[in-house]
Amino acid sequence: MPIDRPGYKRDKIYTVDTTLRDGEQTAGVVFANTEKLEIAKMLDELGVDQLEVGIPTMGGDEEEAIRAIVKANLKASIMAWNRAVVADVQHSIDCGVDAVAISISTSDIHIQYKLQKSREWVLESMVKAVEFAKKNGVYVSVNAEDASRTDDEFLATFARTAKEAGADRLRFCDTMGILDPFMTYDKITTLLNNVDIDIEMHTHNDFGMATANALAGLKAGANYVGVTVNGLGERAGNAALEEVIMAIKYVWGYKVDVDTKKFKALSEYVAKASGRELPIWKAIVGSNMFAHEAGIHADGVIKNPRTYEVFNPEEVGLERQIVIGKHSGTAAIKNKFKEYGIQLDEKDANALLVKVRALSVELKRPLFDKELVSLYEEYMKEKQSA
Ligand SMILES: [Zn+2]
Repeated sequence: MPIDRPGYKRDKIYTVDTTLRDGEQTAGVVFANTEKLEIAKMLDELGVDQLEVGIPTMGGDEEEAIRAIVKANLKASIMAWNRAVVADVQHSIDCGVDAVAISISTSDIHIQYKLQKSREWVLESMVKAVEFAKKNGVYVSVNAEDASRTDDEFLATFARTAKEAGADRLRFCDTMGILDPFMTYDKITTLLNNVDIDIEMHTHNDFGMATANALAGLKAGANYVGVTVNGLGERAGNAALEEVIMAIKYVWGYKVDVDTKKFKALSEYVAKASGRELPIWKAIVGSNMFAHEAGIHADGVIKNPRTYEVFNPEEVGLERQIVIGKHSGTAAIKNKFKEYGIQLDEKDANALLVKVRALSVELKRPLFDKELVSLYEEYMKEKQSA
């Protein structure tokens, strides 16, 4: 279900997940076919609008997985990735997908060194593939690979030519992840001033700006956003689904029709399937997102979670944790022992805090509940014998 964006010429934002294509292209990542189907189903249940699920022309297991996902009859549009080659597109159509991404490089450095062709050849190949796809009735995204390093004028020509050939949208690929949000905003604004076409942002995280750049493109008028679960993807990865959606919801304040409560479960599943563990400090779904240890933070959160939490942990499937350790204060200690039915007065809490800090420094980590209870028992014994 697209996200409403009132006040824009293109008034909806569509999410396009490419975990199963760009995500799997990550060096060293291979999903089993059953995992691919499961991830596709989870994304569909979440409400993602379009899933890019693989490259049919690779054949074998890749093709089988694509066919299985098509057969699952999901609500989401199912897209396959292609080079700007008619045979590739034919292969995709044979798999039964309703949408194709047709990809070709548009930057001079790629055209000259990788393709060893000309700009004219790029336009011709793209047009042939697009016309063939449209004749077969599928939705078409034309991917301008390395768009961020493409000459502005040629990119506009490429987009206009694609539209005239029948393409439904242009995928703007910051293939190398070399833009910042200000540059991204300017590039998309320029492009949209020259060509009236739907644009998808496809951003990479080489400088840690994939999510920011995706948002900058949307702000400039792009209306599709390409993402992957956990930001999985080539090299430093892509814009992360969970980050982009939560930023649209909480940084911008739009109503979002994505079931965000399933984020944590999906992230964990993809982390396991990809063999890429989630860092605890990962934005939105990392286990530290709602762990509070520092005394003033924990005290604030206990009084009102909004003091140090932008949204409730349940909203992304996480739980709040008040961690007791070196940086804890008496409020957190009292609150923790209340869970065990023990009411500490200020004096007891202060005395326990000294012990908690000492043990935490010794162990170089926060304490488990068991350790807290034994510190309490030790303290009570000392108190009685005093
Ligand atoms: Zn990519």
